[in-house]
Amino acid sequence: MSDALKLDFLGDLKRTHDCGTIRLANVGERVLLMGWVHRRRDLGALIFIHLRDRAGVTQCVFRVEENSAVHARAEEIRPEYVVAVEGIIENRSADTINPSIPTGEVEVVVDKLWILNESKPAPFPMEEEGNISEEARLKYRFVDLRRPRMQNNIMLRSKVALEARKAMYDMGFLEIETPFMTKSTPEGSRDFLVPSRMTPGSFYALPQSPQIFKQLLMVSGFDKYFQIVRCFRDEDLRADRQPEFTQIDIEMSFPQQETIFETVEKLVLAIFAAADYKIEAPFLRLTHKQAIEQYGIDKPDLRVPPLVNVTDLFLGQGLATEGLPMVAIRIPNLTLSRKERDDAKAFGVEKGLRVLDDLKRLDRDMPEAMAEVRKRTGATDEDTLMIAAWPSEPTGHLPEQTVYLAAGALRLHLAQKFNDRHKLLDPKDLRLLWVTDFPMFEWDAEDERWQAAHHPFTSPFEEDIPLLETDPARVRSKAYDLVISGVEIASGSIRIHRRDIQSKIFSAIGFSMDEAKNRFGFLLDALEYGAPPHGGIALGFDRLIMMLAGETSIRDVIPFPKTSKGTDLMCEAPSTVPDKNLRELGIQLRVKV
Ligand code: ASP
Repeated sequence: MSDALKLDFLGDLKRTHDCGTIRLANVGERVLLMGWVHRRRDLGALIFIHLRDRAGVTQCVFRVEENSAVHARAEEIRPEYVVAVEGIIENRSADTINPSIPTGEVEVVVDKLWILNESKPAPFPMEEEGNISEEARLKYRFVDLRRPRMQNNIMLRSKVALEARKAMYDMGFLEIETPFMTKSTPEGSRDFLVPSRMTPGSFYALPQSPQIFKQLLMVSGFDKYFQIVRCFRDEDLRADRQPEFTQIDIEMSFPQQETIFETVEKLVLAIFAAADYKIEAPFLRLTHKQAIEQYGIDKPDLRVPPLVNVTDLFLGQGLATEGLPMVAIRIPNLTLSRKERDDAKAFGVEKGLRVLDDLKRLDRDMPEAMAEVRKRTGATDEDTLMIAAWPSEPTGHLPEQTVYLAAGALRLHLAQKFNDRHKLLDPKDLRLLWVTDFPMFEWDAEDERWQAAHHPFTSPFEEDIPLLETDPARVRSKAYDLVISGVEIASGSIRIHRRDIQSKIFSAIGFSMDEAKNRFGFLLDALEYGAPPHGGIALGFDRLIMMLAGETSIRDVIPFPKTSKGTDLMCEAPSTVPDKNLRELGIQLRVKV
């Protein structure tokens, strides 16, 4: 503590109001407020402070001519000091009204002041948004979280969690906890392991999701389960992933796919309403095949116009490759320079496409086809229009999906790169849709085998079961995603509830029965004790909050996040542990640290 400053005790002081709640109606009242000094202005005879708590700020004024002792004490106050003030609420004069804050019409004329704690200067400006290093923000997270923007984000998070719980309870769901110290789960990432002291050489795994437990709860007859739950995945972190993240996890018995959609739509409506967004249900639905053909991706961003199939217009013109589609890409309100067009074209070519962008020439050579392209896409002269095809050189066996996927990548590239001009990707424009009927398997080229595209407990379409052995690529699954503006926000499926079908899936993905028993034996056992048909879904809670808060980084809606290297800069975790602890666990390090 600085020598000169004498701090006051809280004693029996009690707040009468929160800082952000004072309004004109309080004028004339005596109030006692406590909080942090957000801003301080010393005009000599007058000192102003903005006193802040989580509800907002109120201006407090210290007038030398009314109370010189308190005014003198106020001279010692610095930003981020913790103080209590008592005084009378007054109207501000017309010329000092601040319309940008809800308390801007009033101020507290202070006649008593207590300095409850001092503060070192904040490690970064509290009001500035840009240019603050994220490293400093994460190291001093306790200060960063005090900033109004972060307070709003974390309060939104709390409110959304509450509304989500209410909505789930109203629909008859029970919140049931599942263990964190458990065994490997099926999501396909690496597990975080926790060594067992009592069984040296053995490890618990932190759950990548409560998947198996929620299915077991259905076998146990709980009918409708949900949990707002932490999940752990030890992945190499991509920009916006966290090793621990939160999910709204849901499972229900005897559902049709439709039942799950209706449940989630009600939940999402409640969540959006909590953030003052009004949306309508039912959400749009596309099958996986439609999503690929119309958007070239399995998580379509509906803010950008779809791809338009124009194959029929160019057949026999030497432009289309037999059996492969040609699609038009339109980006509204975008005119590209020659160089920008060439770059975009090069991007498409890199994906394997042949990109036709010389519209003048196409208009001259094929006026009718081009008139029809414009009609189908709705393109005007203000828009960018490109036609994507596959090069006519033989390329061996090429699934038509490849063309859609490459064209979809070019479409998104144009949308993202030039957003400052066409402004299609407005973060407040949230468009929701369901993508259904995913393929059951995807080919793992590295391991040369089929993998479960969702997870191996996902049910195949009954009519596709015979294809499991003959043509796995064509097996469709009862898996679905909820996508918001190009981001996969939820993912789930109707599950397999029969042991015989589960065994077939394991063998299709080359999982020996021994391996399956070792990892998920208890679920396989449970399937033999009256497992009901069931299904569920999980929604990415952090990402949802990020979108609703209009943030672009998931770290800005998580109170204590990890960096993209998986470290916590504030606690300095992970960290080494004393050799004694390792010895107790029977662990010897291979790497000397
Ligand atoms: N367990 C899945 C996941 O975490 C979600 C689900 O299938 O319900 O992605």
